This record gives sequence, structure tokens and C-alpha cells, in this order.
Amino acid sequence: MNVADSEVVAAIMQTTDAELTDNLHEADIIILNTCSIRDKAEQTVQHRLQEIQALRKKNTLHSKLSNETASLNSKLSTLNSPIYGIIGCMAERMGQELIDKWKVDFVAGPDAYLDIPNLLAQALNGHKAINIQLSTTETYSHILPSRIGKSISGFVSIMRGCNNFCSYCVVPYTRGRERSRDVESILNEVHDLETKGYKEVTLLGQNVNSYCYKAEDGSVTDFADLLDIVASAVPMMRVRFTTSNPEDMVDKTLEVMAKHDNLCKFIHLPVQSGSDKILKLMNRKYTRAQYLNRIEAIHRILPTAAIGTDVFCGFHDESLEDQDQTLSLMREVGFDTAFMFKYSERPGTFAQKHLPDNVSEKEKIRRLNEIIALQNELSLQSNQREVGKTVEVLVEGISKRNPNEVFGRTEQYKTVVFPRGGMSIGQFVKVKVLEASAATLRGEIAEFCK
Ligand code: SAH
Ligand code: SF4
Repeated sequence: MNVADSEVVAAIMQTTDAELTDNLHEADIIILNTCSIRDKAEQTVQHRLQEIQALRKKNTLHSKLSNETASLNSKLSTLNSPIYGIIGCMAERMGQELIDKWKVDFVAGPDAYLDIPNLLAQALNGHKAINIQLSTTETYSHILPSRIGKSISGFVSIMRGCNNFCSYCVVPYTRGRERSRDVESILNEVHDLETKGYKEVTLLGQNVNSYCYKAEDGSVTDFADLLDIVASAVPMMRVRFTTSNPEDMVDKTLEVMAKHDNLCKFIHLPVQSGSDKILKLMNRKYTRAQYLNRIEAIHRILPTAAIGTDVFCGFHDESLEDQDQTLSLMREVGFDTAFMFKYSERPGTFAQKHLPDNVSEKEKIRRLNEIIALQNELSLQSNQREVGKTVEVLVEGISKRNPNEVFGRTEQYKTVVFPRGGMSIGQFVKVKVLEASAATLRGEIAEFCK
């Protein structure tokens, strides 16, 4: 999501005289996009802030001032160190503190990106600038993002914000209320990716299953309709989406996935916990049985689908029985992949105010290790089931370990490494799987395709 947002901000910056650079040491303006989801994410940002402060002391401006008339360049010429701004969830959450403590020049929250040129202009005039106003309507639908992420696989935000208020989660506070983007602007972006040679698009939202766009003529497009429209519009591209919230995952969506070959048969369905007591405390609006009912629906409608999840341990009042419930649910579902975390209390959330963080750090780490060990077993079993099969792979890059090998993903999101055999990045190829570890499959080219 932050890659997608950074691409929107890059496009907005290019409406000024700014150009993008890959080299931090060459930058006159540095914009750091940030995440607040767990304390560790914020600590990573704070380390970057320290690095940038050191760099700022050392560096003078690199602006070539080739175009003396350009307003941005002439403003920059009056400064002697890079301007830097903080955007994203940490900007929203910490606001003025970032200016006071870190001496950043400007701060923009997730709904204030259109204001960045203005904030920058204030900063260039020597005034610290901040806009952390949230919006109920902003979707940046008229901004065509500047692609700075991977060149094969791109992201398109279909909605912003979240209304779920899971008790542990900071997102509704930092990204505001849920709003869906119009279908036409989503299609424009998807076509733009296709024109630029992208082979895969991932539709993004905090809860994509609740996507709902009401057009002026009164017609309503839900998520299943949108998937149908996007998959039909770009039949030669792979289409993925994330994240699905279990409570809103309806059969209609699964049926649309079954209808289109290019809708990848991979579903990321975060469960968070296997215990009904904990799910209730988390304000997740499903029970263990309801979650398992959705898993059953996926197997019934999409028998080849792989299933991934998010899970975290050590939430308020989580007992050893609750942890066992999580482990037993993981075994019962046999997740193919999982993102696994330990609870991190977030300022301003319901849990921070009312549900004490009462599992010790040591115990959280122990439980997390238990979860990771189990998932490693499950991922290995899942990958071993692929051995002997021939799978379609989109080549995404050259292996770092061996330049004669390439890697790519199957539609089930499994990474496969195989001898290059003349393949280029962005090609589809059929690969016979020969070996599996918990993290990767290894194979050999069986047949070229598409
Ligand atoms: N909207 C998505 C998830 C977004 S956040 C959903 O609800 O499924 C990504 C993941 O971070 C969550 O699924 C959850 O597992 C984890 N997470 C969120 N807040 C957290 C917190 N306070 N501590 C630990 N993990 C957290
Ligand atoms: Fe956070 Fe819950 Fe919204 Fe996901 S659905 S972003 S966990 S509040």
C-alpha cells in the first residue's frame, strides 16, 4: 500500500519541477513514506530519520540549477541542505511531534498528498508545514501514479481507509474512513500498467471485499463485479487482490474467481487468532466456525486455490488455551503461507485504552516462535504437494545467488527458481517442479507459453 501511495506522491511531485532520483545522496527533497502498524515499523522509520539527519548535516544541495527560471530550482538555490518531509501513517499519528523532535520540514497525512506542492513551497520559504487532515472522499482517482515499484507487477488502490475498527489496529485512525474509487479510474490505471508492459496487477484495499462504488446513475459495483470487469479488461494480465476480510468474503467473489483464468487462485484471508474469545476482544466480526466456513467455500468453489493468512499472538488476556486454538486452526486449515506477528500496542486504539497489554514480551516471543515453527511445517507440506506438477510461472527476476537462474511466482503465489534457459523477465513459462523447501520450489522449464 505504501508503494502504491509513493507512486501517487511521485506523480504529484512531478507536477512541480521535481524529478525522481534513485540516489538519496543526490536528492534535494527527501520524502519518507511511513507505516505505523506495529511499533517495529515506526522504529525502522526513526532509524531512517536519524540517517537522514546525519546526511542533512553533511550534504549540501545537488540541484544543478540548469533551468534558472524554474521556480522550484530557484527556491532550492537559497537553501543549503535537502528539504525533507514525512508522509503516511506516522505523519498522521505523530503530526507536529515530527517537526518538533525530528526537525522535518513538512508533514503530510495519507489524505493530504495533493497539498504536498503547497507544503513544500511553505517549507522552501522557511516555514515548517503540516497537513494531516483526513478526508471522507479523497481517492486520488485523477492521479495516474508514476511507476517506481517493480516493473512486472504493479499495484492499484481500489479504495482507501477502513471502517472496521479492530480493537488493536491503528489504521482507521491514520487512514480514515473507508471509501471506494470509481471503476473507470481503476480501469484506466490497470490499462496504463498493461501499456507499460506490466504482466500482473494487485488490487489493494484494507478490506477489498467491502468495495462498493455507487455511480451517479445509481448503479452499484461491488467487489465481485469489479473483479469481473478488471479480469475481462486485461485477459493477458494476472490479477490479484489483497486484503480480504473473512466477514465480507462472499461466494459471489469466489465464483467470479473461478470464471476467469487470469484471476490468480490465491486468497489472503487474515484470521488473526483461532480463539473465539480473542476474536471477540479484537472486534473481528467472525467466529472460528464462520472463518472455517469461508475456508470450506474456497475449497468447494476454487479447489486449486492456495490460502494465506495473517496471525498474531499475545493480545490482551490471550491464554495458553487461546494460543492452542490458534495453532489448531492453523493445522486445520493448513495455510500455504502466513504473515506472523506478536501484538504491539498502538496509541489511540480501543485496546490501548481499555484492554491492557498483559502478555509478557518473553511469552509473546515464545508463542510467536511456536507459530512460526508450525507454519514452516505447513508451508513445507504445501510446497511438497507441488513436486511433480507442471506450473505456470511469471518470471520476475534473476536469482541473486546464481545469475544463470531466474525466479518467479505461480498463480498460487509460490516462488519457483529454475535455470534461465533464455527466459527474460516478464515472460510466462511452464515449469516442472522437482524439489521443495518451506520457502521455495525448484524446477526446470517444461514449456514456453503466452
Ligand atoms: N486490513 C487487513 C490487515 C492490515 S494490517 C486485515 O484486516 O486483514 C496487516 C496485519 O498486521 C494484520 O492483519 C494484523 O495481523 C497485523 N496487525 C495489525 N495491527 C497489529 C498490532 N497492533 N500488533 C500486531 N500486529 C498487528
Ligand atoms: Fe485494521 Fe481491522 Fe481495518 Fe484490517 S480490517 S485495517 S486490521 S481495522
